[in-house]
Amino acid sequence: MDSIYDVIIIGSGPSGLTAGIYTTRAGLKTLIVAGEKWGGQLMLTTEVENFPGFPEGIQGPDLMANMRKQAEHHGAEFVDENFSQGDFSKRPFTVTAADKTYQAKSIIIATGADTKWLDVPGEKEKIGRGVSSCAPCDAPFFKEKDVIVAGGGDSAMEEAIVLTRFAKSVTLIHRRDAFRASQIMQDKAKANPKIKFLLNTQIAEITGEFKVEGVKLTNTVTDEESEMPTQGVFVAIGHIPNSKVFPGIDVDEKGFIKAQEHYRTNIEGIFVAGDVHDRQYMQAITAAGYGCAASLEAERWLEAQK
Ligand code: NAP
Repeated sequence: MDSIYDVIIIGSGPSGLTAGIYTTRAGLKTLIVAGEKWGGQLMLTTEVENFPGFPEGIQGPDLMANMRKQAEHHGAEFVDENFSQGDFSKRPFTVTAADKTYQAKSIIIATGADTKWLDVPGEKEKIGRGVSSCAPCDAPFFKEKDVIVAGGGDSAMEEAIVLTRFAKSVTLIHRRDAFRASQIMQDKAKANPKIKFLLNTQIAEITGEFKVEGVKLTNTVTDEESEMPTQGVFVAIGHIPNSKVFPGIDVDEKGFIKAQEHYRTNIEGIFVAGDVHDRQYMQAITAAGYGCAASLEAERWLEAQK
């Protein structure tokens, strides 16, 4: 039996798992390098209300477990280890995860994106001690506490709303006076009496010896400095694509993989899907759609190689 995989999919969020469902159903021998923490960002979410097919909504981890089961059902093999390195300079390509190396005729990179941090003093060492990027995961630790959310996009609005279920007050701090968030999310947040807004303000430092006790703030218009006591800082200022580890793959100035026509990368036989190349939509359903498209393109490309 051929020990070379037709396709290795790197990543196991909605794009990677959807790609796996399509490649296996097309009869392609498929390995999904899923990562130690498989499932991507939806594993850190609670209710997902906008994924079609679930009129009452579905919990993020349940949605991902269903997608994985579906890929497994059709024959996808999984390795729950992180991609460590690959040789993409010749075919078959090689992919190493933990201490094992696998070979593939084609690759789909679907590694998604990670939290962008504020990168201010006091932040890094307090992650897990009051600094968080995941309200659905950590909000219960902030019962009856005063917390801050940094950011002005949909994520910030969503985090703030989730936090109001537990916290005494939530102050959303944004560096400009206009939000990037969709109107519907802004309206939801503004209608919540527990959420206060502090605009034209940047967090300059997170203070406290062992845990978060406050923040130092700078007004982005007047440069005026101030301080605010708080017990939690939730950072929701966007994401950084997981693209650094791939040798020879072209990325743009923000690190998103450059997708060419037909979801090809600059290396023939290597395709891309999901948030690692999508800087515009970043939704579970668009990621799944990209996974579908990339897998169909990989299938066509493999067929043409015969
Ligand atoms: P985003 O839309 O890129 O917004 C990031 C926000 O953080 C912006 O307001 C930005 O400010 C601010 N920011 C960036 N760097 C900063 C820094 N160093 N210091 C302070 N503030 C900083 O990211 P997102 O909110 O994570 O959303 C990403 C995508 O996912 C979007 O397409 C969004 O619609 C989608 N999403 C959808 C939902 C939903 O529909 N339920 C939920 C979450 C996310 P500026 O505005 O000044 O640039």
